[in-house]
Amino acid sequence: MTERTSTRIRGIHRVSPPSSALRGRVVVAAVAVGAFAAAAAGQTLKAGQSPDVTPLADSKDASAAIGIGGDASAAAPEILTVAKVSAAPQESQKILASDKIVQARAEKLAAEAAERNRPRYVQPAQGRLTSGFGARWGTTHYGLDIANRIGTPIVAVADGTVIEAGPASGFGLWVRIQHADGTISVYGHMDTFSVHEGEQVRAGEQIARMGSRGYSTGPHLHFEIWDPSGMKVNPRPWLAEHGITF
Ligand SMILES: [Zn+2]
Repeated sequence: MTERTSTRIRGIHRVSPPSSALRGRVVVAAVAVGAFAAAAAGQTLKAGQSPDVTPLADSKDASAAIGIGGDASAAAPEILTVAKVSAAPQESQKILASDKIVQARAEKLAAEAAERNRPRYVQPAQGRLTSGFGARWGTTHYGLDIANRIGTPIVAVADGTVIEAGPASGFGLWVRIQHADGTISVYGHMDTFSVHEGEQVRAGEQIARMGSRGYSTGPHLHFEIWDPSGMKVNPRPWLAEHGITF
């Protein structure tokens, strides 16, 4: 019983030296970090204790102090590297330049993420739905009417190419945009437009401002969807298919 206890104690003692050695290493590391911090702060530590270090210029002394306790001459190349970081102004500029590279890279990644996550379909204008697709006043209304104030932004419903922008009978002015699958979106009655034929536009990009030109009883956007065969279809289910409901 006594034997075992003492063995255990000896066992504990045998374990102790590595742990105190570990503490030693931690202390050494802390000293090194402190010396580095001092060097970075531009303070000059006493380097005179080591003759191998004294030939170095003043600005390098602080960093050279890190080498104390080891072989200073063997550590010299490393010391010179550290001294460069804390010393010359042009090196500081290099650090600033590398910061800018890191920042530019971060901005590029953010832009790529924004591009991946941007909406592919957008409601063409904010406002009140005043007429749907279908029979109206003894004829057929081939689009949606979204009413709002004159000047309300009208945006491209999806990415596409402007195939026409200008006057059109009944519409006053219109803009037509063809999308990748052949679908055409049509925007009418606008007060002004800001795109031209052949222009590439993206979903949500402003193309015009709401007006009341042409055959219109008040400021609104008349919005149509022509399917790839050219047939005018109800824009509401088309928009809903692409996640736009209002
Ligand atoms: Zn209409």
